Amino acid sequence: MTVENPVVLVDRDGTIIEDVPYLSGLSDVRFLPGVIDAIRELNRRKIPVAVVTNQSGVARGLFSESFVRETHEYMNKMLGQEGAAIDAFFYCPHLPEAILPEYRTVCLCRKPEPGLLLDAMKQFGARHESTIMVGDMVRDMIAAQKAGVKGFMIQGGNKDNRSEAGLTYIRVASFSEAVDRFLDTLSI
Ligand SMILES: [Mg+2]
Ligand SMILES: [Zn+2]
Repeated sequence: MTVENPVVLVDRDGTIIEDVPYLSGLSDVRFLPGVIDAIRELNRRKIPVAVVTNQSGVARGLFSESFVRETHEYMNKMLGQEGAAIDAFFYCPHLPEAILPEYRTVCLCRKPEPGLLLDAMKQFGARHESTIMVGDMVRDMIAAQKAGVKGFMIQGGNKDNRSEAGLTYIRVASFSEAVDRFLDTLSI
């Protein structure tokens, strides 16, 4: 069986770069071990990689949307020096209790809602059965389940206090392990 149109959706903070709460300086951007090699391998296989990230620091007035975009450009600049690239970035700047009124909303894109994942899947013509979501929080796995895609959760990452009842996902040690396991399923 060959899987068609595989797509990798991935959380940002704590999954592919070091988790720095409300990261607000480019000097804090550091890729986690094995991540660049894994992205390069996905690029080689022409499998799209899309970041889907909550950035409520925007709504909290801690940094601007332009800083979020600048961070993503910087990430791709760092990756480019290693022959790798992320294909697209999707972020949610909202928060129901936002300090800045223009971001104060109950949106459909803030994970655990699946809006960012569904937008990314639409952009790449992804199929549910051939798409994975890799993250480090339970809300990433809830979003994966709501989007109808397989979730891989990195252990030892962020913790949050949501119940895991009824959630199905695969535990991995790193983004690169998730990618390896996904690639193993593509052609059997
Ligand atoms: Mg995270
Ligand atoms: Zn949102």
